Amino acid sequence: MSSDRRPPISRRAFLGRAGAATGGALLGGELLGAVDARAAYARPSTPDAALRALVEGNRRYRRGRWERRDYSPVGERRAVAQKPFAAILACADSRVSPPLVFDVERGNLFAAHVAGNSIDTGTLGSLEYSIAVLGVHAIVVLGHSDCGAVKSAIEVAEGRKTYPASKYGSIGEVVAAVVPAIEGLAPPARTLEHSIVANARRQAALLAGSGPIILAAIAAGQLRVVAAVYEIASGIVKIV
Ligand SMILES: [Zn+2]
Repeated sequence: MSSDRRPPISRRAFLGRAGAATGGALLGGELLGAVDARAAYARPSTPDAALRALVEGNRRYRRGRWERRDYSPVGERRAVAQKPFAAILACADSRVSPPLVFDVERGNLFAAHVAGNSIDTGTLGSLEYSIAVLGVHAIVVLGHSDCGAVKSAIEVAEGRKTYPASKYGSIGEVVAAVVPAIEGLAPPARTLEHSIVANARRQAALLAGSGPIILAAIAAGQLRVVAAVYEIASGIVKIV
């Protein structure tokens, strides 16, 4: 059952095969071997199953009934492989921990973090890698309550704050990636809550429209991209 009995497949070789398939039919991760035998559950193999696993994991988290926590060193055999079934685009906020929030063991959940959970070269390329090479079946763009990046973007959208590079370095660019979502709301609707939802939805839409890897995976039925918001106080993750 473990991948270490199979011949290794290089990233180049895998991409070559995936690229030769029409419609990205080989974008699934089956070529890379199965999950570790110690995993307590079967790896979700469809987008719906992947999302269901995350929803169920969040339910356990909210109830304090974690199942898959094992933070000990994994040993050399497991250290050379990962088999994530889903990916999260999360804020860099220190209170947001996807493996904890979804009760998913190491090696099963890929995560890209940037303040404001927005699409940039780093997060997009990371997520594309998780699809093309690791075969994830779902991406959750995870906004969260009390998001400082969204608060700053609201101030920028309303002309109350600027972030000149001479003083703020690259902070302004991170905030700027969130601003269009706020500008898309009518001024009375620019509450923090609405803005967090609007930003998660916009980033998910941008992601879902990105070619060539993501568009092909969605068209092949191998991937779903959804927006969600994590309520820090209650632990609830809501698909939005
Ligand atoms: Zn945040």
